[in-house]
Amino acid sequence: MNRDELLKIGIAFHGHKCPAMPLGLRAGLAAMEKLGSQRAGNRELYVISDTGKRHAMSCFLDGLQVATGCTYGKFNIEKRYHDKIGFTLIDRKQKKAVRVTMKPEFQAKALQSEFVKQRRSGVPATEVPAEIIDPLVKRVWTLPIEEMFDVGEPFDYEMTEPKSVFRTEQCSRCGALVFEKGARLHDGKPVCQECWPHHE
Ligand SMILES: [Zn+2]
Ligand SMILES: [Zn+2]
Repeated sequence: MNRDELLKIGIAFHGHKCPAMPLGLRAGLAAMEKLGSQRAGNRELYVISDTGKRHAMSCFLDGLQVATGCTYGKFNIEKRYHDKIGFTLIDRKQKKAVRVTMKPEFQAKALQSEFVKQRRSGVPATEVPAEIIDPLVKRVWTLPIEEMFDVGEPFDYEMTEPKSVFRTEQCSRCGALVFEKGARLHDGKPVCQECWPHHE
């Protein structure tokens, strides 16, 4: 996948054009380059993201998922909810990790952008005019990485891969199949968590 394709896929996946998603793409690519890693087809890579929810630039995480192949569907990503723009990328095979954080000066300036002003005043990202968004996207797509992020040196990091659960149990109340970790026992019979008495 070349860079332009990646940007296109990122925008399609994310749902709108904004500067933070491409920043996630750039940061993810930089981290992979630092470790000499390829995009995760399976769960070779793992992301621990500092981002949270309901804060500006959280779109960053979607770019990070697209670039690294660390996705919620593959459960090789987790959020720390520390409300910062940074992450650790782990390469399980190499047993190495790298820390990437957004430069505070860059972030502070980016939060003054016309795009952010519009968002702050309540304009949805899809309705911010292209003449405001496009130059910002181009800028973050082309700026040297060291102007935007601190990419650390690789360090040792061991992380084993948990086995997927394939076994199911059937909920004795609604009949749903529950992967075994999710089933609970009620009167000695398996129940799903929606049927678990705590919900009544
Ligand atoms: Zn966005
Ligand atoms: Zn049930």
